[in-house]
Amino acid sequence: MVKIGIPRALSYYKYFPLWKAFFLNLGAEVVVSPPTKKRMLDLGSRYVVDEVCLPVKVYFGHVNYLKDKVDFLFTPRVVSVEKGQYSCPKFLGIPDMLKNIDNLPPLIGPTVDLTKKDRTVFNTVYEVGKMLSQNKYRISMAWFQAVKSQAKFTQQWLAQSFPQELKAPRVPKEKSHLNVCVIGHEYILFDSFLSMNLLEKLANLNITVFTSEMLSRKVINNELRDYPKKIFWDFARDSLGAAYYYSKQEDIAGFINISSFGCGPDSMSNSMIMHYLKTCGNKPLLNLVIDEHTGEAGLNTRIEAFYDLLRRKAV
Ligand code: SF4
Repeated sequence: MVKIGIPRALSYYKYFPLWKAFFLNLGAEVVVSPPTKKRMLDLGSRYVVDEVCLPVKVYFGHVNYLKDKVDFLFTPRVVSVEKGQYSCPKFLGIPDMLKNIDNLPPLIGPTVDLTKKDRTVFNTVYEVGKMLSQNKYRISMAWFQAVKSQAKFTQQWLAQSFPQELKAPRVPKEKSHLNVCVIGHEYILFDSFLSMNLLEKLANLNITVFTSEMLSRKVINNELRDYPKKIFWDFARDSLGAAYYYSKQEDIAGFINISSFGCGPDSMSNSMIMHYLKTCGNKPLLNLVIDEHTGEAGLNTRIEAFYDLLRRKAV
């Protein structure tokens, strides 16, 4: 059976159910790298320049882990999945940067760019599927199942729960008395190494978490409809739309914004979120910027201080 490796990083956290179901339905075995460890980050950092953000360094660590264990490595170049919206340039450059790693297995690296006229979804899907089957009907059926799996994943988000695949606590064991909106890329938030178990820490403090993924595209776009300029980085658009939406919800006590040092899009969206919440939102914000040197003790202190502030405001 052909083994396809999927690094547990970056777009894994958004599209894993889709690609997993697709490959399984084409008869392949899917091998996912294990949760991030410090050693993976150290190894990944060797292949990229220092300035690259932490999530990309971690991605390279996962690739390094998988490279001797699989027949193919799945590393798509995600340019755009929606008209007028683009992924960050570091995302786009990953297939090129991978050339720095020796002895990689063959890559399955389709370009996902739905702004191109000749690049329909099925063209992209067929390009990937034909590496495993020459039967167009079989590829179509595998894609059909894949879309169903992804829709189920999205539904769990929209029902305001964390999808089971992410294995993260959202609701505290006791009945929550504080709701907090946490803004951050899924690949930081749900990677417990990168986020230093932020979600678990919040659940232990009796806090229920709300995120941008729980909002539909329609809600996000509606929030930003009067924004003077279109935000074309997709993550930045989601973060800002979530800040706008949740700041108007009375039961949201505050915001935590977590991002990586060296992130271009977040350097812009962080400022926009801070400015908005300061001038219009009237809700406390804890801004966490992480890098290789962030200490967990310092993070804990900041979270606890923020929690105390929220509780004082709540009484
Ligand atoms: S959006 Fe930011 S954190 Fe994500 S890959 Fe790009 S630079 Fe890195």
